Formats: sequence, structure tokens, C-alpha cells
Amino acid sequence: MAGEQRERLVDALLTVIERHILPQTRKGIAAGNKVFGAALLDKRDYSLVLAGTNNETENPLWHGEVHTIKKFYEIKDRPCTSNLLFLSTHEPCSMCLSAITWAGFDNFFYFFSHEDSRDAFSIPHDLRILKEVFTLKPGGYRRTNAFWHSEHIPDLMAACDDSARAGFHARADAIRAEYARLSEIYQSSKAETAIPLK
Ligand SMILES: [Zn+2]
Repeated sequence: MAGEQRERLVDALLTVIERHILPQTRKGIAAGNKVFGAALLDKRDYSLVLAGTNNETENPLWHGEVHTIKKFYEIKDRPCTSNLLFLSTHEPCSMCLSAITWAGFDNFFYFFSHEDSRDAFSIPHDLRILKEVFTLKPGGYRRTNAFWHSEHIPDLMAACDDSARAGFHARADAIRAEYARLSEIYQSSKAETAIPLK
């Protein structure tokens, strides 16, 4: 990917998290849901198609990714998934990896890793399920395979030019700080929810 295109992509992904996913997630957190969000962008111009957030208080399968896919299929004149980028704030769990695959996306981009979810968000379930059900160690699934190619957004940022990187890092720090704040709210209220894997 050319440098300029990479910078445009990183800018678009961060912008969607800042302006479209986070506002929904703040409301979701207030209702007792987890911090995980997702969005779909048009591959051609990186414009937003749809953003969504975790809604496990309604249904434990409504992870940010699956709930966004559910809402996407409620759009009457929706684009084809092969023309879209899939953005997940956190590396998708095994259910969401499969959902992304079954829905026909050939890519996804994520900001926080499974290890971040376990260590910074106190949500170890993604890695536990991969280990218990699939006997996979952290990093043990194929991040590029016959179905899709996935990208860790911080790796994309690291590959950007110096001039763009400083601005991206400042925005990424602000995003991390906001997620840390939201995570604290979730963790302090999760005992009151009926979510099976809190
Ligand atoms: Zn999931």
C-alpha cells in the first residue's frame, strides 16, 4: 500500500472510532454493555456506512461486530460486503471472526489486540475460548487466510511517514484514554448485568 493511501486509511479508521463508534459506546456503557464497537466503511472513499457497539444486555451474542452486521442486514439498499472495510475496535473473538467470514468480508482492521482485551480491559474470554475450544495460544489463528486479511491499526500507524505518525499517535493515546475510562465504568457496574461472560 502506498504511503499516502495508508495515511488516508489510518486517518479514516481513527476518525470513525472517534466520531462514530465512541459516541454509541458511551451510551452502551451507560446501559451496562461492554466497550467493544465496530463499523463498516466503503472501500473506495473510506466513507462510513454504519457504526455499532456491543449490546450484550439485550442478547449475549450482540458483540460489537455481530450487532453491527445485524444492523447492516436491516438496511434495505445495502452495499455488497466485498466492497466494504470492516473496522473492529478490539480484535474479534472467535464468534466474530466467524461472523465476519460468513458475511463475506475479505478484511478487518482492529485497534486493540486480544492481549489488550485481557490485560487492559480485564476481558480474558477471547483468549480463553481460543485456548479451551480451539487449543490455540495467543496469536495462534491465521491473521491472513483464504477468507480475509486482517490488520492491527497500530502496525499500520508504525508504517506511516514520520510527519503523519506523531499526529496519529496523539489521537491513538486519546482513544486509549477514553476506552480506559469507559472500561472502568463497565467493570464497576458489570456485576449487576445478566451477561454470562462479563
Ligand atoms: Zn465477539
